Amino acid sequence: MMKRRDFLKLTGALTATVVVHRAWAQTGKVEVLWLGQATTRLTSPNGKVIVIDPFLTKNPKTPPPYNQDLKALGHVDVILVSHGHGDHTGDVQDLAKLTGAKVYGPAGLIATMVDLGWVTPEQSVRFGKGGKVTPLGPGITITQTHAEHSSEVTVTDPASKKSTTYPGGEPAGFIIEFENGFKVYHMGDTGLFGDMRLIADYYKPDLILIPIGGHFVMDPKDAAYATREMLKPKYAIPIHYGTFPVLKGTPQEYQAALGQTSTQVFPISPGDKLTF
Ligand SMILES: [Zn+2]
Repeated sequence: MMKRRDFLKLTGALTATVVVHRAWAQTGKVEVLWLGQATTRLTSPNGKVIVIDPFLTKNPKTPPPYNQDLKALGHVDVILVSHGHGDHTGDVQDLAKLTGAKVYGPAGLIATMVDLGWVTPEQSVRFGKGGKVTPLGPGITITQTHAEHSSEVTVTDPASKKSTTYPGGEPAGFIIEFENGFKVYHMGDTGLFGDMRLIADYYKPDLILIPIGGHFVMDPKDAAYATREMLKPKYAIPIHYGTFPVLKGTPQEYQAALGQTSTQVFPISPGDKLTF
């Protein structure tokens, strides 16, 4: 039987652990911090932190302090990478080193990152489309989805300036279901594809982070069609626009193309936070 003295010691230890995340846990909500392009930090109702596609220090749209010091992201539990392009992988290596967070992504991409020495095999996890992982315990499920895009990893030698391109596996999106049942669909980089209907029917995302810039991904008209006719989420945050001149699409064009719809659109700026 536990003596009262020991019980008090135990409750003391528990209190100390709980305090760390108390301020956040009390909200019981999912926080979304968008940092420009596809870079997103998601904080779960219990305070677990997922960073998707970290591209901050060379991202012209990422505001300070996030573009100056990766420490500004705070505690990170998991890093997700959707594909190999530089505007999605730019800070993976440094953020993984800084935080010790495990890096999850498409199998072929992780294999190349390991070969290049960006992450160790121990700190990275390969998984595939349709695969579900629970690196943060049973309350949070991450599912990898299809994305209509490409994936290469191009590395430039600093001395010779010669670039070399490696295979980056298959591009992907992610659906994250949180402890409270809220589902975020970060679409990665993608063009329109018919199975967005299947994703909507089967996974029923509440919030989509949807690329709208055009050229490499959907333009506002495509994104509006995907939102209104296929995905029909409660909420949408347009991303992947305005970072470079070719990504011409704007949230205003996206909303105009959407017209009357039940989806609530949040045309936020990099550095803005929303809670759901
Ligand atoms: Zn991109």
